[in-house]
Amino acid sequence: NYASVNNLSNMLNVKIEKLIRDLTSLGFANVTHNYILSREYIELILQEYNYKIDGENTGTTFENVYEELKSPVNPKNLARRPPIVTIMGHVDHGKTTILDYLRKSSIVSEEHGGITQHIGAFQINTPLSGRKITFLDTPGHAAFLKMRERGATITDIVVLVISVEDSIMPQTLEAIKHVRNSGNELIVAITKIDKFSNKKERERAIDKVTNDLMNNGVPIEKMGGDVQVIPISARTGENMDLLEESIILLSDIMDLKGEQGSNTNSEGWILESEVKKSMGNVSTILMTRGILTKGKVLICGNTYCKVRSIMDETGRQINQAAPSQAVEITGWKDLPHAGDEVIQVSNESMAKKFVAKRQSLLQSAREAANVEKLNQQRFLEAINKEKKDEMSTDDLDGEEGADQAGPPGPKKVNFIVKADVSGSVEAIVESISSLGNEEVVSNIVSAAVGIPNENDMKMARITDSTILCFNLGNLPSDVLNNKDKIEVRQFNVIYKLIEDVTEILTENLKPVY
Ligand code: GDP
Repeated sequence: NYASVNNLSNMLNVKIEKLIRDLTSLGFANVTHNYILSREYIELILQEYNYKIDGENTGTTFENVYEELKSPVNPKNLARRPPIVTIMGHVDHGKTTILDYLRKSSIVSEEHGGITQHIGAFQINTPLSGRKITFLDTPGHAAFLKMRERGATITDIVVLVISVEDSIMPQTLEAIKHVRNSGNELIVAITKIDKFSNKKERERAIDKVTNDLMNNGVPIEKMGGDVQVIPISARTGENMDLLEESIILLSDIMDLKGEQGSNTNSEGWILESEVKKSMGNVSTILMTRGILTKGKVLICGNTYCKVRSIMDETGRQINQAAPSQAVEITGWKDLPHAGDEVIQVSNESMAKKFVAKRQSLLQSAREAANVEKLNQQRFLEAINKEKKDEMSTDDLDGEEGADQAGPPGPKKVNFIVKADVSGSVEAIVESISSLGNEEVVSNIVSAAVGIPNENDMKMARITDSTILCFNLGNLPSDVLNNKDKIEVRQFNVIYKLIEDVTEILTENLKPVY
C-alpha cells in the first residue's frame, strides 16, 4: 500500500528527477527520493502516466501521449534546416563576446533595423554563403537542463571556445566530456588571437592549444581527426566568417533536416515564458517540426495556445516560423513552462479536452492529499480506542485501585528524529507529530539530519526520549548500545516507523489495575 518515490520510479521506468518534478507539479511539496507515497497517490500517479487523451488506458506513459498525437514523419516534407549551435568553454574565455559579435554583425533581420532581444536563441545569416545558423544564447538555462533530462537533444553542434592565452582549463575539460556524452558534433574556436601581434608567437600559442587538445583525446583535423579548429578573434572579427562557414560545412555533413510541409503538425520546445505588458502570455518556442502559422492550436503541459501572433528575435511580426527557428508567440491561455514540449493538435476543442483532463487530475491529487491526512489520524484513533477498550474490559475483571491522579491533558511520549536528508526529517515529523489521542500524544523533542550525536544522547536522557533513526545505514555501536540505555530504533520505511511509534504510544496508555 506504500511505495517510495524511488520504488515508483523503478516501477514506472521513469527517471527519478522527472518523477520528482511531475510530483511537484501535481502539488506535492519537498519531494525526495525516499518520500513515501500512499496508495491513493500512487493510483493517481499511475493514472497520470497511463492516461491517454481519450481517457482510455493503454499502458502508455504520459510522454507517449504526446508521441501518439504526433503524426509520423513524412519524408516528402523533409527539407534542410539550419544547425542549432551552443557555445561552451571556460569562464572568461570569450563565449559572450562571440555571441555579441554574431548578434551584432549578421543578424538575419538586420535590414529591418531590429535590435535582438534575449529570447534564448537567435539566428544569423552567414556572410559568405548566406546560410542560416541558430545560436542558443543561454545553454546553462534551466529550460535546457529540463529538455536534456527528457532526452531531447536540441543542440546539433557545440562550439568549444578556448582562449589562446590560457589553453585548456577545467571547464574546457568538462565541455569536452559533455560533448562526448551527448553525441553533439564539435568545432573548436581558439579565440583572442589578436592578443599576439607577433606572428611567430601567435603560431606557437595556437600550436600549444592544439597539442593540449590532442593530449586530451580531441580528434582534431590536423591529426587526421574530424574536429575543425579555427583560430579567431571576436574582438577584431578575424576569421569569424571562417568559423561560421565551418559550422555550415559540418551541418551539411550532418545532413540536418526538418519537416516543413504546410500541413505538417508543428512541434517545438518552450525556451522562455512570461507575461508581457499589452501582449499577455508570451513564450519563446524553438521550432523542431512543421511551419508554424497564426491560428494553429498548440498544447503544452496544462495549457494551450491558439497562436495569435509570431515575432522574431527583433520583435518584428512574422507570418511563419520554420524548424530551428526561435520565435515569440502570443495566445496562451496560461503561461507554459520553460523546458516543456509543445505540440500541435487539430483544433481548440481537442486542446480544451486535453487541458481539462490534466487539470482534473491535479485537483484529485490535491484532494487525495487531504484525505490521506485524515485517514492517518482516524487510523490511530481507532487503534488507540481498541487498546483502551481492551483495557477497560480487563479492568472489569481486574482489581481496583488504579492511580487516577495525574496532570490534566494527554501524556506526552517523547521522540528524537534523526534521518538521512531533510526531506525525510520533514516527512517523519509531519507523519508522527499528529499521532495520539486525548490520553497520549507523541512529542518531538528535536528532529535533524545525521547520526545521533552527543547532544542527541544527552537530550534523550533528560527528556526520556526514544531516538528514531531513518535511512542512516549501520549505526555505530556506541550509539546502539549506549551506556544510558537510551532506546535507539532504526527504520528504512516510513510506515514501519509510524507503526512503531503508534505501538509505543499505545503501550503508554494509562495503565489500568
Ligand atoms: P565568457 O565568460 O566566456 O563569456 O567571456 P567574455 O566573453 O565575457 O570575455 C572575457 C573577457 O575576454 C572580456 O574582457 C572580453 O572583452 C575579453 N575577450 C573576449 N574575446 C576576446 C578576443 O577575441 N580578443 C580579446 N583581446 N579579448 C577578448
